[in-house]
Amino acid sequence: MTNDEHNSASGSINTVVVNGLEIANTLRDEMAEEIKTLVADGRRPPSLVVVLIGDDPASRSYIKGKQRACTRIGMDSRELVFPETTSEFDLLDVIKDLNEDDGVDGILVQLPLPKQIDPYVVAEALDPAKDVDALHPNTAGKLLSGRADLISCTPLGVMAVLDRCGVETEGAHAVVIGRSDIVGKPVSILLQQANATVTLCHSRTRDLASICRQADILVAATGRPRMVKGDWIKPGAAVMDVGVTEVDGKLVGDVDFEAAQGIAAYITPSRRGIGPMTITMLLRNTLVAYTKRSKHSGHSA
Ligand code: NDP
Repeated sequence: MTNDEHNSASGSINTVVVNGLEIANTLRDEMAEEIKTLVADGRRPPSLVVVLIGDDPASRSYIKGKQRACTRIGMDSRELVFPETTSEFDLLDVIKDLNEDDGVDGILVQLPLPKQIDPYVVAEALDPAKDVDALHPNTAGKLLSGRADLISCTPLGVMAVLDRCGVETEGAHAVVIGRSDIVGKPVSILLQQANATVTLCHSRTRDLASICRQADILVAATGRPRMVKGDWIKPGAAVMDVGVTEVDGKLVGDVDFEAAQGIAAYITPSRRGIGPMTITMLLRNTLVAYTKRSKHSGHSA
């Protein structure tokens, strides 16, 4: 859909609040059908292992959500919890076992990790074929050349939302705010591969507002609540608000959601927006890892 198609006769725009949960559920139903067929053929279901170090309540709650999502589509999921004091050496040992376990298709080490453990070392220790959070340097390298099977979940979720909303990426100017390894960088690469012209912004970018005003597609991934004002948004833009911050007990995005109404063509809300898509793409990656591994090893799973 083009920007103009969203302009009503009066000149104002009917902003579509994207229901990420609905899109996620459709994709999950499709995966559930696929897994049902595999199991009916006598194969084992795909299996995800989530490793948690420590007892952070937020991490626990994310893990519960991921496990529920796995169970609902017929995927096996297992949680391994170790104390906050676990050494890097011991965690690497756990990862080695999981790498060698043929019954495990995906390994996710929940971040953040305690300070004695270097997340980069952990990422390097993962078998790239099971790296469903797409953290291994090989995975990042393959993404650059457009050859990655496993792609960071949130960026993949953003691309799926754009696709399901029918937003044209070819020739569009996409502005990404945030350059983290898990969101900003990979989403900018995916947008470029979808033939958008991409500007990647960060905390040192000069005159961010005027760059954002040029964006047909605006992806905000900073964790700075309501940083993007209404007058930073180009009329008719697709606004993908990835940021989530808790403010006074409420989840708030990087974009001033109210101010974006009547300006953006599409906006993802901070609840039921990109979040459910991230989990869905973790399921997708686990299914892809399972399929690839069965093909390579020739095992019937
Ligand atoms: P990081 O903290 O790793 O990165 C934040 C990025 O934002 C950095 O590149 C930083 O720039 C940039 N930034 C910070 N302040 C500004 C500013 N004032 N102007 C421009 N750029 C700025 O965060 P993540 O990428 O991990 O996550 C970003 C947000 O997305 C968080 O709110 C996180 O909770 C959320 N998130 C949501 C997910 C979901 O499923 N909905 C999944 C993953 C993340 P610099 O590099 O210069 O420091």
